[in-house]
Amino acid sequence: MDWENTALATQAIRVGQLRTEFGSHAEPIFTTSSFVFDSAEQAAARFSGEQPGCIYSRFTNPTVAAFEQRLAALEGAEHCVATASGMSAVLTLCLALLKQGDAVVCSRSVFGSTATLMNQIVAKFGVSVHWVDLIDFARWQEVVSEVKPVFLFVESPSNPLSEIADIQQLADLAHQNDSLLVVDNCFCTPVAQRPLQLGADIIIHSATKFIEGQGRIIGGALCGSAQLMESMFAIVRSAGPSMSPFNAWVALKGMETLAIRMQAQSAAALTLALWLREQVGVKRVYYSGLPDHPYHALAARQQSVSGAPIFGAVLAFEVEGGQAKAWSLMNQLEIFSITANLGDVKSTITHPITTTHHKLSPEDKLRAGITEGLLRISVGLEAVADLQEDLLRGLSA
Ligand SMILES: *Cc1c(COP(=O)(O)O)cnc(C)c1O
Repeated sequence: MDWENTALATQAIRVGQLRTEFGSHAEPIFTTSSFVFDSAEQAAARFSGEQPGCIYSRFTNPTVAAFEQRLAALEGAEHCVATASGMSAVLTLCLALLKQGDAVVCSRSVFGSTATLMNQIVAKFGVSVHWVDLIDFARWQEVVSEVKPVFLFVESPSNPLSEIADIQQLADLAHQNDSLLVVDNCFCTPVAQRPLQLGADIIIHSATKFIEGQGRIIGGALCGSAQLMESMFAIVRSAGPSMSPFNAWVALKGMETLAIRMQAQSAAALTLALWLREQVGVKRVYYSGLPDHPYHALAARQQSVSGAPIFGAVLAFEVEGGQAKAWSLMNQLEIFSITANLGDVKSTITHPITTTHHKLSPEDKLRAGITEGLLRISVGLEAVADLQEDLLRGLSA
C-alpha cells in the first residue's frame, strides 16, 4: 500500500505496521537488547551494512523503527530518528552538526531546557549561541547574516504567549546564508503544522507531549532528509540517546489518535479562550485562535495542514491580582492538574514565572510577557463545561 496518498489520520494509524508470524493486530514490542544471526557470515554482513537488519537495540529495533516510519510519514519527511527524549533530540542535533568555532542562532522563546542546553552545555564546546526574539525578523536578518550560523532554531507557536514565526520566511533567510532551519514542532504536531513543507530542514519533537498524548512516557525524535538524518543516526548509534522499544510502542499507540485529539483539544482551547476573556478578573488571554491575536492570520495560514486551521491546545491568561491571585486560583482547582507537562488528555495548569520560566532574568521575563499573574493551560479532553466550572471556582475564590 502506498500510504503517501492517504490522509494523515490514516497514516497515523497504518504506517509502520509490524506483524509477526502470529499475526498480532497491534504492533509487537520487541523488548530485546540484541538480535541473533544465522551464521558468522550473516553477522559480518549486518555489521558492514551489506545486509539490512537488526543488530542491537541501541540503534536498530523494529518497534522503534515502526515509530520512526510513522512519524516520518506524518511530517512528510524522508526519515526520522527516534531519541530517548525531546531534549536528547536537541542534543543529538547539536552533536551531529556543530563543532568548535561554529555559531547558532536561537529564538529567545524556546523550551527552558533547550535554552539551558545551548547556554551551558553546547557553548562549553566553543560554539557561540546568539539569541533573537522569535517575531523580530529584522533582527534575525541582522544576526544570521553577521554570524553565519550552522542552524537557526525556533519553536512556533511560542510558549506561553502563542507568538508565531513565519517559518517560510525564516527558512528562506537560513538558506540565503547557507544555514539550516530547525523547528521544534512539539506544540503543533504535524496535524497542525508541517515545517518541512514550509522550507524547514529539520524538525524536533518531544514525543512526550501531544504525540503520545496521555502523559505516560518520555520520548523524542528528529525528522528531515535522509542525508541529514544519517548524521543524526550516527550520533544515536554511537552515543546512545536511544528511544526504548516500550516507549516507542506507547507513542505508536498515541499517534493513532493524534489527529482527532489535536482537533478536539484545539477546539476546546478556542472555546475556553473566548470564554475566559469574558470572565471578571481576567485581564488578558493569549491564544492565536482569537481573531484579534496579532498573529492570528499567520497562524491560520501556517497551521492549516488539512483545511481548517488548528491553533493548538495551549493558551495563557493573565489574572488581576498578580501571583497571589494566580496561586489561589490554581489551588482551588479540582480538575486541572498542577503540572508542567502539556499535551495530555488531562488538562494541566502552570504558573510560568515561578516554574517553567523561573530561570529567566527579570528583563527577559518582562520581554517575554511572563508576568506574576500569568497562567498557562494545556487543554485536554474533559468536557469544556466542567473545565469552565473548575476555572470559575478558582476565579471567584
Ligand atoms: C517538553 C518539550 C521539550 C523537551 O522534551 P522532553 O521529552 O521533555 O525531553 C522540547 N521542546 C518543547 C517545545 C517541549 O514542550
